[in-house]
Amino acid sequence: MAPAPESPAAQLHRAVSETSRSTTGGILASGRSVEAVHEIVARGAALGDAYMARSPTDPGLLACKKGCSTCCSRPVGTTAPTVLRLAAWLREHRTPDELAEVRRRVAALDDVTHGKMWTPRERPPNPCALLVDGACSVYGVRPFACRAWNAVDVEECKRSMGQDWTALRFDLYQRTTFAAVEDGIKLALGEAGLDGGDLELTAALRVALERPDAGVAWLAGEPVFAGCEAKLPPNQRRHLPLAQ
Ligand code: SF4
Repeated sequence: MAPAPESPAAQLHRAVSETSRSTTGGILASGRSVEAVHEIVARGAALGDAYMARSPTDPGLLACKKGCSTCCSRPVGTTAPTVLRLAAWLREHRTPDELAEVRRRVAALDDVTHGKMWTPRERPPNPCALLVDGACSVYGVRPFACRAWNAVDVEECKRSMGQDWTALRFDLYQRTTFAAVEDGIKLALGEAGLDGGDLELTAALRVALERPDAGVAWLAGEPVFAGCEAKLPPNQRRHLPLAQ
């Protein structure tokens, strides 16, 4: 029997993840440095943005608008390169006092959420430590999961907060694009012998902010982010849906 034809979302996922994988592999092949790690994430974001520029979805159909931060109370899954770049960006763009305040907020949230399973009971909605005055304070370097998340209806998004989010209607193109970028990065990291496992943003960022040498140590294979793993329930292995 002939194999079932690939869905448009699966085609999109394959194209984006393959490009992301080869781009990441090429960067790592030309030299392993903290700067290269930052470039991996920047190139991944640019790849996702390029695909989003030709999205067939009418943005007017989405509920996501400036001023809405509903989704920023969910746990965020990410990987080491994104966390390392985010910490470096904060060090570069915040004064010492501001950075101390970011570290305080991140540590306070981590004290509450660390190691909790991502279920409504164990990990109820809690605003992200990087959410300031209702807006993302690191918007340009936010994780791929944050770039991917979207909803058609804000009330659905709010209602789904403490429930099974898979009931949510969303733009699969946006979800698939940024999930595929991150999947490609993870594949390339694994091929290069680097740890591309899913991390929980708050816990991992706390480590990266407290350890200025976190990037060098991670590149050297040290288990820098041990204990910061994303705690997805067994029936929800991904923080983003696979292409369908
Ligand atoms: S990093 Fe920014 S976009 Fe992502 S959850 Fe935190 S505040 Fe929201």
